[in-house]
Amino acid sequence: MTSRRTRHRLVQRLKDQGIRNAALLAIIGNTPRHIFVDEALAVRAYDDTALPIGHSQTISQPYMVARMTELLLENGMPRKVLEVGTGSGYQTAVLAQLVEKLYTVERILPLMQRARQCLHELRLHNVSYRHSDGGWGRKEYAPYDGILVTAAPEEIPLMLLEQLTTGGVMVIPVGSGDQQSLQRITKTDKGCELEEIEPVRFVPLVPGRF
Ligand code: SAH
Repeated sequence: MTSRRTRHRLVQRLKDQGIRNAALLAIIGNTPRHIFVDEALAVRAYDDTALPIGHSQTISQPYMVARMTELLLENGMPRKVLEVGTGSGYQTAVLAQLVEKLYTVERILPLMQRARQCLHELRLHNVSYRHSDGGWGRKEYAPYDGILVTAAPEEIPLMLLEQLTTGGVMVIPVGSGDQQSLQRITKTDKGCELEEIEPVRFVPLVPGRF
């Protein structure tokens, strides 16, 4: 159930859905998603579906992880990235294998601790974790070449935009309930360019720590 063949099937499915970045596909094929979910759900870990991870949160669907990562990397490999919403840590693990340094923020402490443990098991050591409200970003390490947000605010948080370098890219679901869309914002010296990518459904970005 967690075999190479099962993972290969997932990669093929992502290719069929239009994911093209070869390095990213290879990483998804080699990253054990089953360790990021409860043992009882491990049989479904390589289905292209979101799964519960406790605390009313979900591990994102592999297609969404791939799509968001691809959008983040499209204009060149970002060196320093901020991720908001660590959750299970699966997206974190994928990103950590692509970028030099990753900063991640999660508001639910037990999720952050479990994610850290999983990445430790995978020997991914280029990640800095913070238990905090990610809507504030992590100003002490800013600016970032890329920001990836995996929970949906109703509006783009200005604090995050401020922490992006010129030329930097933010990928973020925006909106509420079933009225959310995935957006890519590129910061230029003249302002921000916004692209609406596709309708999505994420858990809300909730202010404060838990
Ligand atoms: N990429 C993660 C997605 C988890 S769901 C995965 O694939 O597992 C989104 C996560 O965002 C949840 O863990 C939720 O607790 C977290 N979150 C919501 N609001 C947040 C905030 N203001 N700051 C940091 N994390 C937040």
